Order: sequence, then structure tokens, then C-alpha cells
Amino acid sequence: MSRRGFSTRQVHQGVAVSVPASATGSAPTARVTPIYLTAGFEFDEYAAAGAHFGAGEGYAYTRIGNPTIDAVEHTLAALEGGSQALLLASGQAATTVALLALVEAGGHIVSSTHIYEGTRGLLRDNIARLGIDTTFVDAIDDVDAWEAAIRPETRALFAESISNATNRLLDIPAIAEVARRHGIPLVIDNTFATPYLLRPIELGADVVVHSASKFLAGHGSVLGGAIVDSGRFDAERSGALYPHLVAPGRGPGGVPGPSIAERTGGDARIAYARESVAPRFGPTPSPLNAFLIGQGIETLSLRVERQSANALAVAQWLAARPEVASVDYAGLPAHRDHALAVRDLAAGFGSVFTFTLRGDADTAQRFVEALEVFTHMTHLGDVRSLVLHPATTSHAFLTDAERRALGVEPGTLRVSIGIEDVADLLGDLSAALDVAVDAPVAVVA
Ligand SMILES: *Cc1c(COP(=O)(O)O)cnc(C)c1O
Repeated sequence: MSRRGFSTRQVHQGVAVSVPASATGSAPTARVTPIYLTAGFEFDEYAAAGAHFGAGEGYAYTRIGNPTIDAVEHTLAALEGGSQALLLASGQAATTVALLALVEAGGHIVSSTHIYEGTRGLLRDNIARLGIDTTFVDAIDDVDAWEAAIRPETRALFAESISNATNRLLDIPAIAEVARRHGIPLVIDNTFATPYLLRPIELGADVVVHSASKFLAGHGSVLGGAIVDSGRFDAERSGALYPHLVAPGRGPGGVPGPSIAERTGGDARIAYARESVAPRFGPTPSPLNAFLIGQGIETLSLRVERQSANALAVAQWLAARPEVASVDYAGLPAHRDHALAVRDLAAGFGSVFTFTLRGDADTAQRFVEALEVFTHMTHLGDVRSLVLHPATTSHAFLTDAERRALGVEPGTLRVSIGIEDVADLLGDLSAALDVAVDAPVAVVA
């Protein structure tokens, strides 16, 4: 199955999940894994309870496992080219669980500066309070800067494949090589690219995280997150850095048992995330949300293809308008990472980017208020086109200098381009530019 094309896998991979016999009985087999909206599962036989708690067999409680959630995980692992996936309640939960499966108090993370503001806050404010330091690398294309930031206690490198706000791209093979040399994984947030456009694991990364709330679901109706692991954890090479993965486990009766690495081999990282971090911290997705994410994934390639084509047309159109000072879209030849985009994004350049209007924050406000097809909201990857003013929303709590360093000016707007007819998007933008630029400047007394 995994050798078939992406669009075939996105609709056929999810059904290869075994469901409890008692749930299907002799009933016809459902073509789509049903919504097992249940907190738990009955033990068919007395011994099944012991087998579940002992060897992890079968389903017992949805925080530990659920067939609807499993089906989506199966699909995601196949689409990302990973060995296993873990679905969580949100993208933030996915990043948190992925990192806490690797690093503990006294540890250190090296992260790109150019990441989702929620993740920056997580690293800077929350993970820091657990005694885990993060060094932010601003020059993400400088391999030496990544190398120089690594300390003996570094346990993960973190970056986004395509980043907010200026569409910076990471040279994944180059930074994965640095990570490999140090025996630590490169963790990539692949939300903006999706596995349809880019598969970090195939380029050398070891852990992928997603906000499934965005493109994977696509319909904008649920939150979700996912971790996908390469399955390439090497206990011999990296065991000393990750003692929790190689330390003896506890067997029945409390006697020492095999370590996670001995039990699960190259899957030790995601097995630890699944068995220990996720169920203890508890960000379990609802089976209903998992089902809706699974439904979304079945049309991922069609949406992303259309969204990318629309986005390229919109970016080209904006770049040619005199009212627009700059467009930060990796698909445009003028973008600093365009060569990398051409190398790594063969199927399209994505559909989330920023552009900056000539004018100030009031110009941006008039523009947003004049749009009719675009929805003004904080979300992305939706089938609908969306617009947001970063300086007063996602990046409001930064200083002007910090904002400028991230490419967020008073006139900067972020768009997420949907699947609408592109002529309607251009018409809407054109009308809003006319209003925003022609409106009289407010008289200041
Ligand atoms: C939205 C987003 C997140 C956080 O995901 P949630 O599902 O909102 O928790 C993380 N990374 C990126 C790149 C995002 O766009």
C-alpha cells in the first residue's frame, strides 16, 4: 500500500485497523472506521483485562487507545512516510508531548526563531519553567549557527518546514545532518507544508508534528494535533542521551522488565510518547474530532493543490500592485528561500503567507474591513480564505523591534488562501485595496 500514490493512500490507508470483535460482530464491515465515541471498551473475557494491562493488548480506555483514533494515526504515518503516528487534542499538545518525550529538567532545546508564536511562548515561558532551556537560532539557513547552539545537554532541534510570518524554509537535509552527528532528533512542525507538499522524514528529520486543526482537517471545525516518528531511534548510538528510553522497565509484580527500546526498537521515542507522556498529561483527542480529521485527510491533496495554485496566483498579483510594499511568499522568485522552495516543494509552495501594504496599521484595518470573500479570523489551512493582522493579534505582545525582526510591520497582513475561484479572491483584494488606499486619512486634532 505504501508504494501507491499519495492521493490513493489518503483514502485507502485508514481502514487497516482492527476493531474489537464485539463492536462489529457479524455485522457488515463499515467502509469508514466508525466513530467509537466511548470512554472505554468492555473486556469480553475476564482474562482480557489482565492482558490489556499486562501486554497492552486490545482496547480498554480511550485515553490509551481507540479504533477511530488509531485509524487516523495509521493514515498519517503512511502519508508522512513515518513508522507510527500519535494523534492528540491540538497542535500545541503535539509539540508539547513530542518534546517532553525527549527532554527533561536540565535539558536543552535548539529552536528556529521563525516558528508559530504559540510554540515560541511554550518554549520560552512554559517548558522553561520545567527547567528546560531553549536557544533560538535566528539565521535558520546558517548550519554553523545551529551547530554552535548545541550543548552537551541538547536533546532536540526544532523548526518549521515553512514558517510564519515570512515563509522562511528550513534546509531539512542540512540541519538533519547536524542533528544526526550529535545523535539527537530534528523535530519539524510540518503544519504549513502538509505531507502532500513535503515529507520531512524522507529528507532526514526524525520527528514531525502537526496542528491537525489546519490543513489536515481542512474544514476548520475541530482542533487536533499529531506526532509522526521516523522509527529510526538508535539505542546504541543515542541511548546515553535518552536514559528513559533504555532504562529497564517494570514487569508484572514490579520485577525489572525490558526497556522501551528493547520492546519497541526504533519506535522507542513515539512509544514513550504514546505509553507515558500522552496518557499521563492527558491531551487525548475526542474520537469524534479524530473522525472529522480523518474525513479531512481523505481530500488533503486536492485541497492543498488548489490552495497552492490559488496562493501563487494571489501572491503574483499582489506583488505587481503599487499599493503593496512586499510579498513574503516562497513561491515568488524574489523570496530569499525560493531556491530551497523549488528544490523541496515540487507539488506547490503552500498557501499561507504575509504581505505588507504601503501605509500603516489604519490602512491594514480599512483593508481587512473592506474584504468580503476573505474571513477575518485567526486560523489557517481552511477551505475558506482567511486574513489576519499579526501586529495587533498573534504578535501583539512583542516589541516593535521584535516584530520587525520577524517581518511583522504595521501594514503586514497574513493570508491563508482557500479553494475558492481565484478570480473572486483577486476581485475581493482589488476592491479592498481601492477602499484602503483611497479612504481619507483620519484627521488628528
Ligand atoms: C496552529 C499552529 C500550531 C498550534 O496548533 P493548535 O492546533 O492550534 O494547537 C502549531 N504550529 C503551527 C505552525 C500552527 O500553525
